[in-house]
Amino acid sequence: MRLIILGGSGAGKSTQAKKVCAALNLQLVSVGEILRSAIANRTALGKQAEAYVIQGKLIPDELMIQFMGDRLSQPDMAAGWILEGYPRTAFQAEELDFLLDGSNQTLDWAIYLQVADELLLERSQKRGLPDDTPEILEQRLKAFHESTVPILEYYSHRQKLLTIDTAKPISEITETLIQCLSNS
Ligand code: AMP
Repeated sequence: MRLIILGGSGAGKSTQAKKVCAALNLQLVSVGEILRSAIANRTALGKQAEAYVIQGKLIPDELMIQFMGDRLSQPDMAAGWILEGYPRTAFQAEELDFLLDGSNQTLDWAIYLQVADELLLERSQKRGLPDDTPEILEQRLKAFHESTVPILEYYSHRQKLLTIDTAKPISEITETLIQCLSNS
């Protein structure tokens, strides 16, 4: 199964992605985590990404698309995956489809964890990551509305959007998700 998980910072993408991966035996690719570790380790990707991440801005599409193209072609991805935090723009979504088409693969679902803005900000503040300051969080929310919300329509149009209401305990959300995916 090939899945992506969408939602603002603080929507619970990482928590749910980890649980779904464990339950369905999928490979997890968490873009935010990869970037934070690349920055901490001063890798080439980290050096290019740093200025954007610390401002809460999205990394340029070209850089992300190249990186994800390489990552998806690695052998550990063959048995199925879930991408957390990718795609985040319409261009990234289209490029992902091209990439999958090129290897005769399809995306099964785009899972959208729906959360009110105020709750997103409140939850992110509690995470306490280095790029979770109030100014950066506002900027990330802006980037989410400007760039990521439009791709919900992209997946909805292709009948691939699975919207999950997250005003429930974490374990119930996971249960709903796994049930929806198993029935699909
Ligand atoms: P996250 O932990 O998923 O909220 O991601 C942290 C930061 O990494 C974001 O604020 C962006 O600067 C960057 N980032 C993560 N995923 C992407 C993406 N798909 N495209 C561009 N930038 C990204």
